[in-house]
Amino acid sequence: MVDRTGKPVGLLTLQGDYEKHRQAFAALGRRTFGVRRRAELELVSSLVIPGGESTTLTRLLDRAGLREPLLEFAASHPVMGTCAGLIMMARGTADEDESDFGVAPLGLLDCTVLRNGYGRQIDSFTAAVRLVDDPVDFPAVFIRAPRVVAVGPEVDVVARLGNEPVAVRQGHLLGLTFHPELTADLRLHQAFLRMVDEAGDHH
Ligand code: GLN
Repeated sequence: MVDRTGKPVGLLTLQGDYEKHRQAFAALGRRTFGVRRRAELELVSSLVIPGGESTTLTRLLDRAGLREPLLEFAASHPVMGTCAGLIMMARGTADEDESDFGVAPLGLLDCTVLRNGYGRQIDSFTAAVRLVDDPVDFPAVFIRAPRVVAVGPEVDVVARLGNEPVAVRQGHLLGLTFHPELTADLRLHQAFLRMVDEAGDHH
């Protein structure tokens, strides 16, 4: 099935674990389409920026000349970023580390993130995170995850770990610090598809 727009969900396939996102959407009966070039943005209803490595994503995105086209696309289409994808969507990073000089976020979501925010010792972990609109916790996989250290007034928190936001939404933009595509729980992909369908109704 395609979206109400008649177009598949776009997956930025420059780098990272987009294949697992493809499988999650397929399990929900939705087609995806890989986006690596500007012209391909015209073929999709929405875009997922997967986890991976934000320094590499920055380089590949700029090399592909996708920065401006992505900014334009995101102004009117739903975008979901997971982990490194959220870092790319953020307004900026709070890192002072030199290794972070290679990251140039798109500034779509009014939030600031700290890369690798759980430290080197706790590289990866799974935790039950609280969803704001669902009483059942979500099993979230964190892999060298960023922390959301500041959010602007337009941003809604979608999920929390303790008191900290780990999923945020600003209108048709959704950012997660963890990897929903690595568990069988499809609720967050479903939530994104609802955003896609809502946007499709207005197009
Ligand atoms: N730490 C990575 C980065 O800064 C993100 C890791 C991930 O996407 N799993 O880009």
